[in-house]
Parts: sequence; C-alpha cells; structure tokens
Amino acid sequence: MRVLLLIPTTSYRTSDFLEAARRLGVDVTVASEEPSTVEAWHPEGFLTLDFSDPQGSAERVAGFATRFPVQAVVGVDDDTTVAAAAIAGALGLPHVPIAAAIAARHKGTMRQALAEAAVPQPGFRLFSREEDPERAAGEVAYPCVLKPTFLAASRGVIRADDPRGFAAAWKRISEILDDTDVARKGGPWAEEILVEEYAPGPEVALEGLLRDGDLSILALFDKPDPLEGPFFEETIYVTPSRQPESTQRSIAQVASHAALALGLRRGPIHAELRITQAGPLVIEIAGRSIGGLCSRVLRFGAGTSLEELILRDALSLPIFDSSRESRAAGVMMIPIPRAGVLEEVAGIEEARAVPGIEDVVVSAHLGQRLVPLPEGARYLGFLFSRGETPESAEAALRQAHGKMKFRIR
Ligand code: ADP
Repeated sequence: MRVLLLIPTTSYRTSDFLEAARRLGVDVTVASEEPSTVEAWHPEGFLTLDFSDPQGSAERVAGFATRFPVQAVVGVDDDTTVAAAAIAGALGLPHVPIAAAIAARHKGTMRQALAEAAVPQPGFRLFSREEDPERAAGEVAYPCVLKPTFLAASRGVIRADDPRGFAAAWKRISEILDDTDVARKGGPWAEEILVEEYAPGPEVALEGLLRDGDLSILALFDKPDPLEGPFFEETIYVTPSRQPESTQRSIAQVASHAALALGLRRGPIHAELRITQAGPLVIEIAGRSIGGLCSRVLRFGAGTSLEELILRDALSLPIFDSSRESRAAGVMMIPIPRAGVLEEVAGIEEARAVPGIEDVVVSAHLGQRLVPLPEGARYLGFLFSRGETPESAEAALRQAHGKMKFRIR
C-alpha cells in the first residue's frame, strides 16, 4: 500500500507523518513544492508539485500512479488541501469534493457557505483591496477583525476598535499580501480583505475526524490565555476542555453543522470557536488536522498518534479506538516576543525538569530572523505537558516557559 503525502516545504509535520506511515508499514511518496536532491535516485519516494495548481498536480500524480499505484492522498497543512482533493479525485479514490476543500480553505467562501446554512458565526463582509479603506471603515461596526482570506497561524489577523485602527490594519494587511510569495500563493485571494464582527468570549479548538458525514471529536482544547487582540497569538492549548458538558455538546453540534455546510463529509477537521453569550460561534473550520507540532500531545487508544489515525482513515484501515487517553495534556506554541535575530536560547534543561513537562522543542534555529505577529507565521518552539488535571497541565507549561530565555538581537 502506498500513501501520497502532500507536505509544504515549511511544514512542521513531516516527521510525525513519516513516523506514522512507518508504524503502519505502508510505502510513502512525499510531494513537496521544491525538488528533492534525491528524487532521481528514489523516483517512487518523492514528487515535486505546485500545490497552487491543483489540476496540474492531479495530472502529474495520475502519470506517476500508473507506475507506482497510490491508495491514499493526505494533504498536510492548509496549502495542500485543495490539491489533495483534486489528486484523490483524479485517482478515483474517495475524496473531499473540490468545492468543499475550497470552502474550507478560503475564509470568504467559508463565511458565505456558513451563512447560507445559518451556522452561528460573526457577521462579516468581504472587501476588495481596490475599495477605498476610509469608505470601508465607515461601513462596518466596531470592534471588528480584519484578516486575509487564506493565511494561517493568525498571520495578518488584526482587531480594529475604530475607523483609524481599521485604516491602519488595512494597510498592514495589504503589505503582507503584497509580499511576492504570499501574492503568488493567494492569486486573486491576495486582493481581498475579510472584515468580521469581533466575537468576545473564551475560545476553543476542536480536532475531529469525519466519516460519512459523522463527526468524531478527537480532542477539544481550551485556550486559557485571553485572545482579545489587536493580534491573536496562539499560545497554550489544553485538553480536555473545562467548559461545561452542555457547552461542549453545543460546540460539537455547531462544528458538525459547519462541516456539513461546507460539504466536508470525510477526513480530519480543525475548528476554532468562540463561546459567546449567544452560544458557540465558528471562527474558522479547516479540512486538515491541527498545525505546528501540537498533535504530539494527543494519544489515542493504546498509544496511537493523530497522524496514524489520519493515515488509517485515509487508507480505509480499521480504527479500533479513537478515544483520547484520560490524562490531561497541554501544548504551548512559544510566541516570538519581538523581531530580530535569535542568538541564544537558555533554560531548556530547566524547562524540561519542570514536573509534568514531557518535551521541549525549540524549532527556530540560532541565527534565524524572527518575525512576530501579525507579519510572522512561525513559532520559537513548543512545550508539551501532561497532568492529572487540565489545571496542572497548564501550570506546568507556564512554569516551564518562565524558565526559558531567548536572546534576540
Ligand atoms: P488563522 O486561520 O490565521 O488562524 P483565524 O481566522 O482563525 O485565522 O483567526 C486567528 C485568531 O484570531 C482566532 O483564533 C481568534 O482568536 C481571532 N479571531 C479571528 N476572527 C475573530 C473574530 N471574528 N472575533 C474574535 N476573534 C477572532
């Protein structure tokens, strides 16, 4: 059996997916945007694809599969989901409809589809960047959130409390969208700015797997740090959620409704919701699994990883137990405190020694130029914890983070 993994070159997730494939004993072909130097010696192992051209990618893989048949296609991270749908379709494999993959990828299409299905979400308006920002600023209610329609990791997501803040955010987002790589990746989407009502309240992230339209909740994470803007830095995720049972049920219902509204009926989903006084609202739902290295805190059944569940599902292999272990777990995406060059990281051993901390990974390298939000999209690293309770898993992360020092020039 062979699985084709679509992995952007900047992905954090390569090794976890490769390890899962190794454990399952399946053959792997890794497709990426940049040619691998070993491609010529190992033609069945590597492919170069332009993920921004789903049709071209599908044709390329169809040719490849006549020599090396592929039984499943798995897209890793946001940039590959539409190509994954197109490729699986061209190979005659079960797949997400392309329209659904696009709706889960492009925030403007997502908002429209959710509105048509009356899924609870913030009010929104999609603007073309050709419009006059000062006029646009007079046409929305405050506070609001401005964002690009296709980026991830909160890149370019900015809260505005008044028309002046709106104009400043518009300008800052425009500069991000004018970056050559971003503009190329986004195509026409780089010409838009989405404006939403600011939804107040605690936020949760839901990790789920859809099978025949049925949603299994793999994990529900609380985000205990307040996310009030102006930028929305992801930091701590802790599971299980401390929200009341009834709230958790309505979160699951809203997420499931949202997936069906987009036409997603299979594969992993990752959704962010805010719990407002009116109930849970969908901030975002994507047809992929959680990003960064965060999935490393999740263990299912007898120790199965999230990546293994996803590969099993894609290959139609049995999944015996998709219930998460009973202990609490937490992950912290270590935010970039300021711009500069990373010169030194101290305190890693002290952070590791904090009770409950399972691992500390510094993913930025020394000498790397660090870019904080809203322009950046990378983290300094990740802290992982386990505990008897969500409170203890969270406290361990905070304590460990306090032990680390990042010297930035
Ligand atoms: P990305 O896909 O880059 O993560 P999101 O649209 O999910 O972008 O926004 C990132 C974060 O910004 C969310 O997790 C949330 O904390 C905050 N956010 C985005 N939109 C809103 C909104 N309408 N109201 C309140 N917070 C928001």
